[in-house]
Amino acid sequence: MVELAEKINIELPQDKLLRQLCTILSRYLHQSQIDEVIHAYEFGANAHAGQIRKTGEAYICHPLSVAIYLAEMRMDAQGIMAAVLHDVLEDTDVTKSELQQLFGEDVAELVDGLTKLSKIDNKPHDEAQAENVRKMILAMADDLRVILVKLADRLHNMQTLDVMKSKKKQRIAKETLDIYVPIANRLGMNDMRRQLQSLGFYNLYPMRFRILQKALKKIRGNRKEVVDTVESAIKNRLIENQLNCEVTGREKNLYSIYQKMLKKRISFSDVADIYAFRICCDTVDTCYRVLGAVHNLYSPVPGRFKDYIALPKANGYQSLHTLLIGPYGLPIEIQIRTHQMHQVSESGIASHWLYKSDDEKKSTLQDLAHEWLRDLLEIQKSAGNPLEFIDNLKIDLYPQEVFVFTPQGNIIKLPRNASVVDFAYAVHTDIGNSCISARIDKQLVPLQTKLETGTTIDVITAEWARPNPLWLNYVVTAKARSGIRNFLKHFKQQEAIDLGKRLLEKELNSMDMSLDKIPEAHLKNLLEALEIPSKDILLEEIGLGNRMPFLIAKRISQNNMQEAVKLEDAEHNQKSPLLIKGTEGMVVTLAKCCHPIPGDPILGYFNPGRGIVVHHHECRNSKDSRIKKTNWLDVEWGQDIAGEYPVEIHLEILNRQGALATVISTISSLKSNIENIQVISQDDSISVDQVILSVKDRVHLANIIRKLKKLSIVLKITRTKA
Ligand code: MN
Repeated sequence: MVELAEKINIELPQDKLLRQLCTILSRYLHQSQIDEVIHAYEFGANAHAGQIRKTGEAYICHPLSVAIYLAEMRMDAQGIMAAVLHDVLEDTDVTKSELQQLFGEDVAELVDGLTKLSKIDNKPHDEAQAENVRKMILAMADDLRVILVKLADRLHNMQTLDVMKSKKKQRIAKETLDIYVPIANRLGMNDMRRQLQSLGFYNLYPMRFRILQKALKKIRGNRKEVVDTVESAIKNRLIENQLNCEVTGREKNLYSIYQKMLKKRISFSDVADIYAFRICCDTVDTCYRVLGAVHNLYSPVPGRFKDYIALPKANGYQSLHTLLIGPYGLPIEIQIRTHQMHQVSESGIASHWLYKSDDEKKSTLQDLAHEWLRDLLEIQKSAGNPLEFIDNLKIDLYPQEVFVFTPQGNIIKLPRNASVVDFAYAVHTDIGNSCISARIDKQLVPLQTKLETGTTIDVITAEWARPNPLWLNYVVTAKARSGIRNFLKHFKQQEAIDLGKRLLEKELNSMDMSLDKIPEAHLKNLLEALEIPSKDILLEEIGLGNRMPFLIAKRISQNNMQEAVKLEDAEHNQKSPLLIKGTEGMVVTLAKCCHPIPGDPILGYFNPGRGIVVHHHECRNSKDSRIKKTNWLDVEWGQDIAGEYPVEIHLEILNRQGALATVISTISSLKSNIENIQVISQDDSISVDQVILSVKDRVHLANIIRKLKKLSIVLKITRTKA
């Protein structure tokens, strides 16, 4: 390569790289600083003279490439110089004091820090690797630039890994995936993470990489039409709503597709069938408006909306995520964020240099990183040896997993977003089946609480407790899911029988009778007349809503079995209403039309085959059923109801910058989750939105409404009950 270049008299690769570097630097550094970088280059090129990389290029091409990557991130002059010189202490006769004299304290320290790291790079053992990571963290805590140069160094080495022997290739690839990828991720550097992941995957599993690549290429053609249709539908809808945004289709990287296939044990086509789009706009408020608009275009999948704007991830990542059902029922993933959030999500802590011009937001990312490093240093002080430190570090580096403790101090690993229920089933199926709540670090919390790393969970169980099908909405582990399903399968019947018994007993009591006191023969006659094989099946039928309890009670009381009671006769006094605990499970459900919450006047409706559906008194559907005077039942909320219940509110707000964002942050500040937002209509001055949020009860809702009413932008707010 060098010879060829000389022969036809074109510039050498290193000259070309230097020119490229200077061009990039000239965008943000002074000429005097660029001269210093050139000085460092000349010094480095001289020191490395005669060394050739396995790729055939002069050695200095490698540090130059590293510097170019960092220059794209606008790293400061010292960082760039350190990048250019990063291997001189390691591979040449140059000393630290020499660097100090020529390029100053900062550069010398940076290069020294990097050298310490690379020395251990070559030791194969676990402990050496652990030591390596520990040193990396320590160096990072001293100066974040060390890790940035190190990551860029690793990236370039990965890009030129092809020339290595396959065994070494695999070791380096594995180390990259195990250690460097999580660090890049923890620092919010998504662009770096993706590149390292993809190169790591390619070098570790070349066959799998190629097969997936081929498959992806093949479907890309088929997908184009759908992508175009959806993209233009979204764009048009946003234009109609006067929302100025940038919509782009997103292709998942091969490694994340591979990970999904492994983790969820699904086929390539199932992963690839998801269509993903990103919408970038200027303000936070617009993000929420865009969310409302797309939810209005395609229907959202319940429970898949995530608000990382109000609650950013630990590495500072911010975005709204939602999943929609698109044309032909295809799943469509949408990410909505501001341009600024997007930039930050691509370069993470490096965005501090990249977008220096504006503001605190980005330096808080560096603060976050420093905070994290400080915590790690604390851990490192108390850790007995490097391996123990690594165990602790892994807890931090793998945010897709949480590590929590039992009261006995045993550590349990669960996937991210795992709830108390997942934990309970992880401990033991019986504990899962009977859990009612938990204490996390001594605080009492509900079952759907998401677990955080490092906490101690004490599950509270009760003999009478049993799994609730609603749990299936939030559990994430297979063990919990199958545990709940199994239990419910066997239990629905028993549950229906119990409810049937409660209902029948209540009716009989109001006629001064009781089920126990009915003569056996009498009951037998009744069952024969109704053509029902057993008492349990009769009770189950009642519990499931297939037979009306007061009709059965009436037949029992009449002591003759010839005539069913006419419906008009059904009006009678029901002395004590059935108490709803909110945890009944499969045979008592809350109506989705009117969203009753604890404290509301409610009414039970027998739904054949499904049991009792609880409606709000004012729900139109329940009014209809009351007019028919049939199939309904007095119910009342019991005492001490746990859980969160969805409720729908209708909002009219001023259509102005920041309005929707203010509403949302007000709701979140009162500890309520927003489950869905939809823009119903919008003009220049007013926006009408429908919001579904979850509350504990009426008092909780009233607090939220009161707080919202105080906002000057809120014109009208009503709760919708169908
Ligand atoms: Mn290097």
